[in-house]
Amino acid sequence: MTTSSYPDTRLLIANEWVEATGGKTIPVVNPATGQAIGTVAHAAIADLDRALAAAQKGFEAWRFVPAAERAATMRRAANLLRERAGDIARLLTQEQGKPLAEAKMEAMAGAEIIDWFAAEGMRVYGRIVPARNPNAQQLVLKEPVGPVAAFTPWNFPINQVVRKLAAALATGCSFLCKAPEETPASPAALFQCFVDAGVPAGVVGLVFGDPAEISGYLIPHPVIRKVTFTGSTPVGKQLAALAGAHMKRVTMELGGHAPVIVAEDADVALAVRAAGAAKFRNAGQVCISPTRFLVHNVIKDEFTRAFVAHAEGLKIGDGLAEGTTLGPLANARRVTAMTKVVEDAQARGAIVATGGTRVGDAGNFFAPTILADVPLEASIFNDEPFGPVAGIRGFDSLEDAIAEANRLPYGLAGYAFTRSIKNAHLLMNRVEVGMLWINQPATPSAELPFGGIKDSGYGSEGGPEALESYLNTKAVSMVGI
Ligand code: NAD
Repeated sequence: MTTSSYPDTRLLIANEWVEATGGKTIPVVNPATGQAIGTVAHAAIADLDRALAAAQKGFEAWRFVPAAERAATMRRAANLLRERAGDIARLLTQEQGKPLAEAKMEAMAGAEIIDWFAAEGMRVYGRIVPARNPNAQQLVLKEPVGPVAAFTPWNFPINQVVRKLAAALATGCSFLCKAPEETPASPAALFQCFVDAGVPAGVVGLVFGDPAEISGYLIPHPVIRKVTFTGSTPVGKQLAALAGAHMKRVTMELGGHAPVIVAEDADVALAVRAAGAAKFRNAGQVCISPTRFLVHNVIKDEFTRAFVAHAEGLKIGDGLAEGTTLGPLANARRVTAMTKVVEDAQARGAIVATGGTRVGDAGNFFAPTILADVPLEASIFNDEPFGPVAGIRGFDSLEDAIAEANRLPYGLAGYAFTRSIKNAHLLMNRVEVGMLWINQPATPSAELPFGGIKDSGYGSEGGPEALESYLNTKAVSMVGI
């Protein structure tokens, strides 16, 4: 079945779904067909003002709800998300392109993340600090930072929201989100779960429109106390600068360029299976997608052959069609970008081991592509491809591979394959990333910190660190009582 119904999406303000003032909308296009399937409301400034006022009111109510009650509401939302995951997945696939099974996994993983943060929110403790003055009492209190403005991208329309939303709500913040205009219906369905779970009006809000206009209005606005963004490094730097000018707390999850180091003693079949699955998941439109494959020269040919076989075994097609393992790219911009990446590498002497071209005329399909013997100056080895293209280079010493892994300004994810504990220790201590997976695909679970260093941003969206970024710390000292 490759058709399904798809709703128009409105703005969520104070628990009501409303049209934008003036009724402006933006078309939503199915990337598998190129056909318009619906619309999303385009917020005007008046809508943002109402959403901000609601977020302020929502915060004043939610911050004083006991953590256990907040957790119970969040768990209800998670259960609704699980119940609705099948329907939500169909929306997600139609607007974003990924295979239905991946879309359903995203919704189910979202529910797990909400549950984890709900529980962790009950463990936000302050502390009592022994005082120098025997008549004094010293306390450290943790308080929610306030209404949050979140900006989330189209590659994981649910999960990019859920990590921010769950951490914010667990700590008592309210949450106003500008989700992606390309993929609005699945995040809207997520927010509906929270409304149906009983969050007070204004605790969650959802707007769409002109990204630059909305961020330019929300970030400096006095109601907003914290900014969280996931997207490209150039946009992240702009938004962080704006937030800095207004002294707002910031979390930035930005681009990456993950190295995969396959040592001489690696299990090659495992490396291909794990890194291959990670590379082509969501058609490579993943910030932690492996991109620079650095393979020891002794096993490079064997690895390349197996990796090509893996790529050629993928079934490209509409994500709603049975058996599809590689969907279209989310928008036409990415197809143009992939074509450029391949042409650039070829012009510099790389070999196209498989793929390299657009597939078909309708939709944004691009063949899974592996480039071998890639020169260092090729764009695939420097700029985030954000698509189903991998580059391979050989190395002779692990030290050289680590130096290459650390060469770029990015520092988000890294992968390594080795059977030696000595190599594993060297990699663990020397590769400059926020997340390193050794002998396995990425497992970004809620309990592990998720975030990058260097140009990949700062802050974390997993583990207790994620909650900390939504909390203010207040020191209180009192004497005489
Ligand atoms: P882009 O840089 O134009 O946009 C990236 C995201 O930021 C989009 O969701 C967009 O709506 C939003 N955005 C853009 N300008 C904004 C602004 N001024 N204020 C607020 N939000 C703004 O790029 P794109 O063509 O949509 O995506 C391609 C690139 O974005 C990729 O190459 C990748 O580097 C990056 N990206 C990263 C992630 C991630 O998970 N880190 C996700 C999506 C896109």
